[in-house]
Amino acid sequence: MEKTLHVTVAIVGAGPVGATLAAALAAADIPCAVLDAAPLPPMELEAFDGRCYAISAGSRPVLEAAGVWERLPQTPCPIESILVADGEPGRGPSPLDLTFRAAETGQEAFGWMVEARSLRVALNARLPRLPSLAVFAPATAEVISRGADGVTLRLSSGERVEARLLVAAEGRRSPLRQAAGIRTTGLDYRQIGMVGAFAHEKPHGNRALEMFLPNGPFAQLPLSDAPAGAPFPHASAFVWSDRTAIAKRMLALDDAAFSRELARRSGGLLGEVAVVGRRWSYPLTAMAAQVYTAERLALVGDAAHGIHPIAGQGLNLGFADVAALAGLIIKAVEQGHDPGAAHLLARYQAARRPAAMAMLGATHALERLFGNGFPPLRAARRLGIAAVDRIAPLKRAFARQAMGLG
Ligand SMILES: Cc1cc2nc3c(=O)[nH]c(=O)nc-3n(C[C@H](O)[C@H](O)[C@H](O)COP(=O)(O)OP(=O)(O)OC[C@H]3O[C@@H](n4cnc5c(N)ncnc54)[C@H](O)[C@@H]3O)c2cc1C
Repeated sequence: MEKTLHVTVAIVGAGPVGATLAAALAAADIPCAVLDAAPLPPMELEAFDGRCYAISAGSRPVLEAAGVWERLPQTPCPIESILVADGEPGRGPSPLDLTFRAAETGQEAFGWMVEARSLRVALNARLPRLPSLAVFAPATAEVISRGADGVTLRLSSGERVEARLLVAAEGRRSPLRQAAGIRTTGLDYRQIGMVGAFAHEKPHGNRALEMFLPNGPFAQLPLSDAPAGAPFPHASAFVWSDRTAIAKRMLALDDAAFSRELARRSGGLLGEVAVVGRRWSYPLTAMAAQVYTAERLALVGDAAHGIHPIAGQGLNLGFADVAALAGLIIKAVEQGHDPGAAHLLARYQAARRPAAMAMLGATHALERLFGNGFPPLRAARRLGIAAVDRIAPLKRAFARQAMGLG
C-alpha cells in the first residue's frame, strides 16, 4: 500500500517562489510538502540560471522570515540610487534624467542584487532543516481529487499526499492552473531579454542605470565584486531587452564585439567594459491569470502573473504573493480555521490580483512609452522624466513603488 502523508499545504513547484513559501510556512510549524519536477541541487550551478534578481526592500523581510536571507552565500550588493534616462545606443544618457536616491526616502537601499544561483544555495540549505516540511524532487504530482474535503495527490515518487490547500508555483506554464481551467491573457513583446555580467573600469557607486533605448530598455545593476580573472575591478549585471532579430545577432557576437555593444548602451558612465561569463537569453512575454484561485487551489508567482523585466519586479511580485498567502494561512491555522476555505482564498485574490495587474499595466506602459523613437514623443518623455525629478512627492511615490513599499 502507498504511504500517505497528511499536510496542511502542498506546494507544486520549488522555484524561488514555491520554495520560499514552503520555508515561510514550515518556519511557522505548518506541515507542508513541496515538490519539483527537477532535482534541486543542480539549480545551484552557474550553468543553470544566469539571472541576477534585484530583490526589493519589500521582499527582503519575506526572505528573512523564511530563514533564507541569512543563508545567502555572498553579501548582496545594495542598490542605493537609480539613474533613469532616455537614450540612444552610442550616446550618453539624455541630460534630462532622473536620479532616485534611497536615502531621500529614509531607506538604506532600493533593493539588493542577488544571483539566482545564490538564492538557490540559500533555499537548498534552508529546506532540509525544516522539520515540518517534506521535499520531493524530482517528482511530479497527479491530482486524484480536489474538492470540499481537501486535496489528494499521487506523486511520481510513489507517495500519496493529502492537504487542505494546494498551491500552484510551477511558473508561467503552470499545469495545475491549466487543469483547473483558469484562463490567462498574454502578450508577446517580440523582444529577447539578454542577461549576464560585465566587468568595468570605473566604480558603479552602488548605482543602477535604467536606459530607455528605442528598441527596448537596458539596465545595469551593481554587483559586489568582479569575478576572479576579470579584466576590470568592478562588476555589474545587465538586463538588455532588444527586438528579437537584433538580440539574436547580438548573442551571436564574440565577447569583444558584444562588450562594445554593451559599452554603447551603458551610457559611457563606467569606462571600459568587458562581458564576463556566459550570456543568457529569455523571450519576453507578459501573462495574467484571470483568477488566482479555484476550489482549494491558489496560484503564486509566475503561475499567476508574468511581466516585462523592465522594472525588475517579477520575482518581487511573487514574494508579495508569498507574504499575503502565508500570512492568511498562518492566521487561519492559529485560529483553528480551514486554511483552504473559499473565503480565505477570496481574500488572497483580493490582496494580490489588483496589485499584480497594476504592476503589469505599469511595466507594459513604460515599455510602450519608452520603446517609441517618434521624436515629439521622445522630447515629451524626456521632459516628463525631468519633471518627476523636480516634484519631490511624486518622486518619493515612484521610489517607494520601486522598493516594493508602495
Ligand atoms: C530576463 C529576466 C530578468 C528578470 N529579472 C528580475 C529581477 O531583477 N527581479 C525580479 O523580481 N524578477 C526578475 N525576473 C522575473 C523572475 O525571473 C520570475 O518572476 C521568477 O523566476 C518566478 O519564480 P517562480 O518560482 O514563480 O517560477 P519559476 O522560476 O518558473 O519556477 C517554477 C518551478 O516549478 C518547477 N516546475 C515546473 N513544472 C512543474 C511541474 N509540472 N511539476 C512540478 N514542478 C514543476 C520548475 O522546475 C521550477 O523549479 C526576470 C525575468 C527575466 C526573464
